[in-house]
Amino acid sequence: KAGGRGKFELFADNLGEAVRDKRLLETDLREALNTGEGLHLVYQPLLDTRAGEIAGVEALVRWQHPSRGRMSPAEFIELAEERGLIDQLGMWVMREACRFAASSSVPWVAVNVSPIQFRDEHFARRVFNLLAETGLPPKRLEIEVTEGLLLQNSPVVQSTLMLLRAKGIRVALDDFGTGYSSITYLRNHGVDKLKIDRSFTAQLGQNEEIDSIVRSIIDLGRAMRIVVAAEGVETEDQRELLSEMGCNQLQGFLLSRPLTPEKLELMLQRWLPS
Ligand code: C2E
Ligand code: CA
Ligand code: CA
Ligand code: CA
Repeated sequence: KAGGRGKFELFADNLGEAVRDKRLLETDLREALNTGEGLHLVYQPLLDTRAGEIAGVEALVRWQHPSRGRMSPAEFIELAEERGLIDQLGMWVMREACRFAASSSVPWVAVNVSPIQFRDEHFARRVFNLLAETGLPPKRLEIEVTEGLLLQNSPVVQSTLMLLRAKGIRVALDDFGTGYSSITYLRNHGVDKLKIDRSFTAQLGQNEEIDSIVRSIIDLGRAMRIVVAAEGVETEDQRELLSEMGCNQLQGFLLSRPLTPEKLELMLQRWLPS
């Protein structure tokens, strides 16, 4: 009995530690959001395959934690979602990205938006206010959402997407192929871009089935007049295959890693038509 209890206490203790650890991280994230310290954005360019120019960039958030060092968004986005901080973080990212794009020669900036942010019925209005505040034209903003969002099939989500698109903001479906969105969802919601998930790109040219799926997505995009982008392009072979298939935009380490604004500007000087 005593041994069993000891085990339970040990378990409870570990659990307590994990909870405390998360609480500490939450406090730090709150602090970072309030001061803006430690948070910054990097930008990864997308190549327009036809023009051979940079089409636009995707903003990706980074957090330099005071003691834990550089943290991946994969770690702290979920925390922010769980602890009710994602609206604040999301808006911080959106403001920073719009401010940057407004002062840069980059054609457009894409911002990742969590499905939770769409629960706010005033989300579209908040975005419009940010555009007004930063002076960024709506045509230069793209919003990346995941398939799961469309699956929720909620009226708030539908009307928010409608408002955003009516204003001229484009909506891209991120990680396409990993969820369950059907052609019906695509037609009902209306999106401007499909981003083929990295897991498909990684197997291109090595797996006939994957090749056909990717080809079908690109054909589907053409039929529906939706731009198709591929993420995670790392090799010359992948680039060639995707270009041949008619993929409109390519993103990945082959072209560039995510860059600081300064490094991106240097790259734009070389890649944009003057
Ligand atoms: P994602 O939206 O699919 O973003 C692409 C991720 O793939 C980025 O990781 C990027 O650095 C990485 N990547 C780009 N090219 C390549 C490549 O060629 N090979 C490989 N292996 N990886 C590549 P990152 O920056 O760590 O972001 C991870 C995820 O975190 C994002 O996935 C996105 O879901 C989320 N995220 C990032 N920033 C934000 C944000 O501001 N708001 C929200 N809600 N989520 C964000
Ligand atoms: Ca994305
Ligand atoms: Ca993605
Ligand atoms: Ca992905």
